[in-house]
Amino acid sequence: MRLTFMGTAGARFMVAKQVAASGGLFIEEGNTRISLDPGPGAVVQYAKREIDLTTLDAIVVSHRHLDHSGDVNVMIEAMTDGGFAHRGKLFCPSDALDEDPVVLKYLRRFPQEIIRLAPETSYSVNGVTFMTSARHVHQAETYGFRFGEKLGWITDSAYYDGIAEQHQADVMVIHTVLLHCRAELPHLCLADAERIIRDAKPRLAFLTHYGMTVWRANPPEIAADMTQRLGIEVLAARDGMTVEI
Ligand SMILES: [Zn+2]
Repeated sequence: MRLTFMGTAGARFMVAKQVAASGGLFIEEGNTRISLDPGPGAVVQYAKREIDLTTLDAIVVSHRHLDHSGDVNVMIEAMTDGGFAHRGKLFCPSDALDEDPVVLKYLRRFPQEIIRLAPETSYSVNGVTFMTSARHVHQAETYGFRFGEKLGWITDSAYYDGIAEQHQADVMVIHTVLLHCRAELPHLCLADAERIIRDAKPRLAFLTHYGMTVWRANPPEIAADMTQRLGIEVLAARDGMTVEI
């Protein structure tokens, strides 16, 4: 499995200024290609790397917030060759489709299937299987994901009991929006991320989806300090970084 960070920006200020890109994650395994959380500018990030979006097999949206779904419509259109090829799947929470939807109605007939995500449920795309976590503690309906034993992806959430086990995998990607924990904001802070890594003990952990405070505090230095303290390799994701898992 190959993972590419199409963006590392998290939350509104980082995204509005495009301090870092906000294209989400891209997974390739064999001939299967999945776009995760195509935020604003995702289509630009894919085009820049000459990825043919008509070969995408699925788009997965963790939740309806703009930094995770901003480009979902253009990505659906691209995946389906402008709507002419009835192909590909869209996975998203129900609230991305129902009230105040982020997925436009006119293009819902373009993909082969639209799947409403449920908690702790297993899904498959051309032999690549993944499982949702319990519903995250976040404003919108949000899920994290585990791709077998290989990859755990902790999307937006406040810390909750079980978050480490539910995403435990060889490589873990953690959305780290906050430098300091703030009880009123349902996001992980650095201390939460460190606790999760300590509990889940992955081989390798990536911090990404940085909020402005984390960005200003220098993510590579933060990751190096965590690596020192934990004895587990922690890396700060960079836009365009690719990892073989
Ligand atoms: Zn969010």
